[in-house]
Amino acid sequence: MDSGRTYDVLVVGGGNAALCAAISARQRGASVLVLEASPRHFRGGNSRHTRNLRSMHDGPTDVLTGSYPESEYWEDLLQVTEGQTNEQLARLTIRRSATCRAWMAQQGVRFQPSLTGTLHLSRTNAFFLGGGKALINAYYRTAARLGVEIEYDAEVCELKIRDGRFTSAIVVRNGSSQEVRAKTLVAAAGGFEANLAWLKEAWGEAADNFLIRGTPYDTGKILRILMDGGAKTVSDPTQCHAVAIDARAPRFDGGIVTRVDSLPLGIVVNKNAVRFYDEGEDFWPKRYAIWGRLVARQPDQIAFSIFDSKAIGAFVPPLYPPLQANTIRELAAALQLDPLALERTVSEFNAAARRGVFNLAVLDGCRTEGVTPPKSHWARPLDSPPFYAYPLRPGITFTYLGVAVNERTQVIFQDGKPAKNIYAAGEIMAGNILGRGYLAGIGMTIGTVFGRIAGEEAARHVLA
Ligand SMILES: Cc1cc2nc3c(=O)[nH]c(=O)nc-3n(C[C@H](O)[C@H](O)[C@H](O)COP(=O)(O)OP(=O)(O)OC[C@H]3O[C@@H](n4cnc5c(N)ncnc54)[C@H](O)[C@@H]3O)c2cc1C
Repeated sequence: MDSGRTYDVLVVGGGNAALCAAISARQRGASVLVLEASPRHFRGGNSRHTRNLRSMHDGPTDVLTGSYPESEYWEDLLQVTEGQTNEQLARLTIRRSATCRAWMAQQGVRFQPSLTGTLHLSRTNAFFLGGGKALINAYYRTAARLGVEIEYDAEVCELKIRDGRFTSAIVVRNGSSQEVRAKTLVAAAGGFEANLAWLKEAWGEAADNFLIRGTPYDTGKILRILMDGGAKTVSDPTQCHAVAIDARAPRFDGGIVTRVDSLPLGIVVNKNAVRFYDEGEDFWPKRYAIWGRLVARQPDQIAFSIFDSKAIGAFVPPLYPPLQANTIRELAAALQLDPLALERTVSEFNAAARRGVFNLAVLDGCRTEGVTPPKSHWARPLDSPPFYAYPLRPGITFTYLGVAVNERTQVIFQDGKPAKNIYAAGEIMAGNILGRGYLAGIGMTIGTVFGRIAGEEAARHVLA
């Protein structure tokens, strides 16, 4: 990093969105510096934990089945966000997603057919061979080959912005600060999910029981600086992607292996051994992301996924083994739940489950009648020991409060004017498309689409 130099493009962040921007800008001839807060071995933020991206396509491809047209993608997004999305930016994301796979492949990313299990994604989502870690490594290799400069352990703590124009950033490395000048800035520094104090401001005491699924480096520092500097915001601080993860997972960075996918195959109870939501409301990829918030609203933010031996083999097992017992009473004791209350909940559920042909691949007819909340699909009595349970906590994936952007990814200020040379991509602006809710694989789509545009626009601004 040369503090005597003015770079064409400064990219803050070191995940998918940042690397897509850096590569795109460099390919157009701009000089690019990437500042990644983490050490080299933790580079790649939340992106290194990912597995796939959602992609529009007209017909079967090497790794995707059938077709996934714009109209269906849009309807899916509209449903999960309940309309809280910017249609212009959402449609841009969807249309551009069709070109992502070919571009990614050119940068060294490899794909594989989808996994089986409770995720019905073979048609809509392209899986990365080697997961997000391999994707990130491929991008860093390509960036280095192209001549992108990359600095690790380099946290940006201040941005100098005047009249909507960025001039320089203050970087802290090994305890000392340095000023770096650049003609344009791409903010790709993630959301604020790893900032426990900020989560607590939004969620109150409940946040003490949240686990963060990804990097501890996404603290929202850049988001806060841009907000304080007058950037217009989208979504709100309580909106986020949050799934139910194993309560035994570490506080940070547990990754994908701590997610629990058994929920639609049994029942979910809170610490009072009471069910609280329809476990079979819709296909799991359309519902898994609501369960973090649901558990967050339960007493002490704890819940339990309970199932019997019929479910074994029907979902991808998480890292930790489930607790196991031969009776519901013994299972309750292992979970420190009231045995009578759990027995009552299970027998009410079993009595309410209507017989049908169980099929996890369709919205089947196995539903309950006369129990609240209902279970709309995949409701089978829990009657085949041994019985199993996973303890669940809210696992925060990423937050949606972000900066407003336009189609060129320029950050918009509160007066409605776009920043002259500040662009944003990835989680830091994902709330433009995801005001609430989530569609599996769209996080990487947003980062790839807007990262590429941000890099192109920043280079164009400088080189025009
Ligand atoms: C376990 C897990 C699994 C997931 N699986 C999927 C999936 O399969 N498909 C999908 O679409 N999405 C998935 N997601 C969501 C996905 O990770 C994000 O949507 C996407 O990676 C966001 O990319 P990003 O570049 O914006 O953020 P990140 O990849 O988090 O990168 C942000 C970067 O900014 C750096 N940074 C932060 N602050 C500063 C600062 N002040 N100075 C310098 N650098 C800074 C961080 O170190 C980090 O490298 C998953 C997330 C998790 C946690």
